[in-house]
Amino acid sequence: MKLSQYFLPLLKETPNDAQIVSHRLMLRAGMIRQLQSGIYNWLPLGLRVLKKIETIIRDEMDKAGGLEILMPTIQPAELWQESGRYDAYGKEMLRIKDRHEREMLYGPTAEEVVSDIFRKNIKSYKDLPKNLYNIQWKFRDEIRPRFGVMRGREFLMKDAYSFDMDFESAKKSYDSMYKTYLKIFKRMGLKVIPVQADSGAIGGNLSHEFQVLAQTGESEIYYEKELETLLLQDEIDIEKLQKYYAAADEKHETQENKLPPHKLNKTRGIEVGHVFYFGTKYSKAMNITVKNNKGEDVFPEMGSYGIGVSRLVAAIIEANHDENGIIWPDSVAPFKVGIINLKTNDESSTKMCDEIYVKLREKNIEVLYDDREESTGAKFAAQDLIGTPYQIIIGPRGAAVGKLELKKRATGEKVEMLPEMALGKLV
Ligand code: ATP
Ligand code: MG
Repeated sequence: MKLSQYFLPLLKETPNDAQIVSHRLMLRAGMIRQLQSGIYNWLPLGLRVLKKIETIIRDEMDKAGGLEILMPTIQPAELWQESGRYDAYGKEMLRIKDRHEREMLYGPTAEEVVSDIFRKNIKSYKDLPKNLYNIQWKFRDEIRPRFGVMRGREFLMKDAYSFDMDFESAKKSYDSMYKTYLKIFKRMGLKVIPVQADSGAIGGNLSHEFQVLAQTGESEIYYEKELETLLLQDEIDIEKLQKYYAAADEKHETQENKLPPHKLNKTRGIEVGHVFYFGTKYSKAMNITVKNNKGEDVFPEMGSYGIGVSRLVAAIIEANHDENGIIWPDSVAPFKVGIINLKTNDESSTKMCDEIYVKLREKNIEVLYDDREESTGAKFAAQDLIGTPYQIIIGPRGAAVGKLELKKRATGEKVEMLPEMALGKLV
């Protein structure tokens, strides 16, 4: 992509309505624009990151045996009346009427809809276990939408739902999602602590939240210090992991077996995922049954597993930035490489830029070539701000001897080299 042809409305000034760094940087880097309170337009750069995150989640969900479906954003009120949550959900639910005065809503989550799919199509123990997931926009009319996409009203969520014949099998499904979440967040370069959680309006008892450590997080979290070392291991023994103490907010306040303060790390976290088992809550309420191997009707055991896809964009920035801007982990970067042409009217510099641009594209490396007639300072600032992991810098002095500079955004380290060598490093 050539920057002269892209749509990247960068802001020089820090927007003063944005309180946290990720919100400021997402606006300054031209990733998002607010349409209404808690409702955002995703511009090209922001959307690229959102899609990268989605792809990682989809890949790991599929590997874990999840089956992707797509449920509508608009749901009928009847299903929620059946489960008993229509009134309980309160003002966070956006309620709508169609032209026939039928009550509908913009889905804040999809337990009811997925349960309805299940009961109409799955009848036998032979079809279980099943894990159905979707990546779809949700709406919650949050009382205080804030911090940009971190707490929006409309937001993108991956929500998965497991169905099992008995508790033992349901616990396996739960543990499999728990492990999958650790993998997903690791691939995004995030350090995440799974903490015990209250299951809130959705109900249940086996419940963990995945928290990204960040001072701007809305949750207060407490965890045993050793947990960090355990989480660094490649193959994590989750049985062992779950024995360590880790809890957030009220769950910690109400814990009876709290650890002494010197054993605990107290910090703040951003909840990026939530897994919970809620047994037969919905299957009983909505009269969903499957035949077991004796021909008897049983209520399937369910769990649900959410990830805040759009919130993750902000959470990753909270965890990866400096005073100049964003520092994307390679796995979610909108572009892997930026090319900076220091002198657009110098023939040899431009020729070299054009050539490496073509070669990078041939090798399917995502590249943003700053070919604008802007000051050098503005070009450096732009690439630093948008967080491109690698920058290729080409000017007349280097071009004269056929060399470019390769800069690593995370460390600021710059090395002069031949284009072939840079290509070798980037592929
Ligand atoms: P929170 O406590 O932050 O309101 P929640 O417990 O209501 O979250 P869940 O119902 O578990 O959230 O939803 C699954 C995931 O969706 C959360 O872990 C979070 O990452 C994300 N999420 C929830 N509400 C929002 C929101 N208003 N804006 C962006 N992401 C959200
Ligand atoms: Mg909430």
